[in-house]
Amino acid sequence: MTHAVEIRDLHKYFGDNEVLKGIDFTVEPGQVVCVIGPSGSGKSTLLRCVNLLETPTKGKVFVNGRELTHPDADIDATRRQVGMVFQQFNLFPHLTALQNVMIAQQRVLNRSKAEAEIVARENLDKVGVADKCHEYPGKLSGGQQQRVAIARALAMNPALMLFDEPTSALDPELVGDVLAVMRKLAEEGMTMLVVTHEMGFAREVADRVVFMDGGVIVEDGTPAQVVGDPQQERTRSFLRRVL
Ligand code: ADP
Ligand code: MG
Repeated sequence: MTHAVEIRDLHKYFGDNEVLKGIDFTVEPGQVVCVIGPSGSGKSTLLRCVNLLETPTKGKVFVNGRELTHPDADIDATRRQVGMVFQQFNLFPHLTALQNVMIAQQRVLNRSKAEAEIVARENLDKVGVADKCHEYPGKLSGGQQQRVAIARALAMNPALMLFDEPTSALDPELVGDVLAVMRKLAEEGMTMLVVTHEMGFAREVADRVVFMDGGVIVEDGTPAQVVGDPQQERTRSFLRRVL
């Protein structure tokens, strides 16, 4: 079977600073993998290497069996299969929720306006903000904005969704709505790679938890293994701080 994501000996330098020091892991289709670890450990850089927002310095990255790091790779084709949700939502402030979800469909997938609108409305409905479709981001709560951002990614029919601390910028009372949408996606079989500090989500929804520290993977296993019974002192000390 083809892995959804396969990373082999991935290294990333920023100047002399080696931020990823030989990462190996895979995500299987339909799996939810949560990446946890201290600030600065390389979690965002790892995620960004999976859709080439960062260029790996060394090593190989495959998405659905296609090597992104191959010199002849069709990067745009692979990127179209990968949805990404950021901590800071990154919606266009001058476009309504509906327009935010339509624009990439029209520009990147060449969908007609009518088709893009149908798909946008379906996805806004799915994440529970259909009634906000004509609002501008500035009029929405953080939780609503993040759900629009998820709808925008889903409208592109991605094979894989990347989430980089999607709830870290939210007021505590808004976190649950976003996690509920992510949980629903997971239950529907979406392949997801999620950087998060939400240990409850990691424990209940993830098939695997990966603990990173200092640019390496320290532990990789089921939530019961990595969160419930960590083997490394570095993992234990991190968990003591976040749990
Ligand atoms: P995390 O997401 O785990 O907090 P990051 O992947 O954001 O960690 O960052 C890992 C390290 O890489 C940090 O030391 C950070 O300063 C550095 N870094 C990240 N992005 C850049 C960049 N664009 N240029 C230079 N250094 C960077
Ligand atoms: Mg980060």
